[in-house]
Amino acid sequence: MENVIGKVTVVGLGPGDLSYMTPIVKEAIVEADVVVGYKTYIDLIADLLEGKTVINNGMRREVERCKRAVEIAEEGKKVVLVSSGDPGIYGMAGILLEIKEETNSAIDVDILPGITAVSAAAAALGAPLMHDFVVISLSDLLTDWEVIKRRLHCGGEGDFIVGLYNPKSNTRTTQIEEAREILLKYRKEDTPVGIVRNAKRGNEEVVITNLGDMLQHTIHMTTVVIIGNSNTYIKNGKMITPRGYKI
Ligand code: SAH
Repeated sequence: MENVIGKVTVVGLGPGDLSYMTPIVKEAIVEADVVVGYKTYIDLIADLLEGKTVINNGMRREVERCKRAVEIAEEGKKVVLVSSGDPGIYGMAGILLEIKEETNSAIDVDILPGITAVSAAAAALGAPLMHDFVVISLSDLLTDWEVIKRRLHCGGEGDFIVGLYNPKSNTRTTQIEEAREILLKYRKEDTPVGIVRNAKRGNEEVVITNLGDMLQHTIHMTTVVIIGNSNTYIKNGKMITPRGYKI
C-alpha cells in the first residue's frame, strides 16, 4: 500500500462575511480534497466547494467531525476542517490535536487563524479593547458554572475589559444575568457595555448600553458582549477604552 501522509488544515473563516476570510484560508479550501464542518459554515463557503467531497453534520458533534477528518487524512487526503472565527478560540483546533494525539496519528496538522468574534465586535463598537482584556465563554456545557463564575470575579477584580462569548442560548438564559451581577460587584452601573450580534455578517446589530441597563436589550446566541473597564467611555456612539496616551 502506498504510504502517503495526509493532512488536516484547520481553518478559521472569520466572523461570517467572506471578505473577512484571509487569502491563505481561501487557498487551503480551494486546494482541499475534502471539506469537513458544521452545516452553517459549509453553507457560507458553498461557492468554493465545487467538485469537493463535503462532510457536514450538526452542532455538538465536534468530536465526531474531528475523528472523521483524521480518518480521511489517514487515507492520504488533503482535508480542511472549518471553524468560525479563529479555530483556536473555542473552535476545532484543540479537539483535532487532542484526537490526533489520542489516536497516535501521523497526519500533518496545520492551523490557519481567523478574525475572532471579539475582534469583529470591537471594531463594530469603536475601540473597547485598547487595554488588557479577558474573554470568558458563558457556556457551561463543558465547563463547570462555578469555574466560570470564579473567572468572572477575577476579570472584574482585575479591572479587565471583559468579552463574553456564548452569552445566551435558547436553553441557557440565566448565566448572563449572573455574570452581570458579578461584574456589578466591581464596576459601576454606568460602565459602558457593547452588544454585537452577527458581527461582520450582512445582518450586524450593534447596541451600546451600560451595565445597569444591558439586560433590557435582546441578547442572542451569535452575540458578543463587551463590558468596559473603569476607564471606558462612550463618545458620539463609539465605545472607547483609553490606552493612556496624552491627547
Ligand atoms: N471560534 C469562534 C467562536 C466560537 S464560540 C471565534 O473565534 O469567533 C461561538 C460564539 O462566538 C457565539 O456564541 C458568539 O458569542 C460568538 N460569535 C461567533 N461569531 C459571531 C459573530 N459574527 N458575531 C457575534 N458573535 C459571534
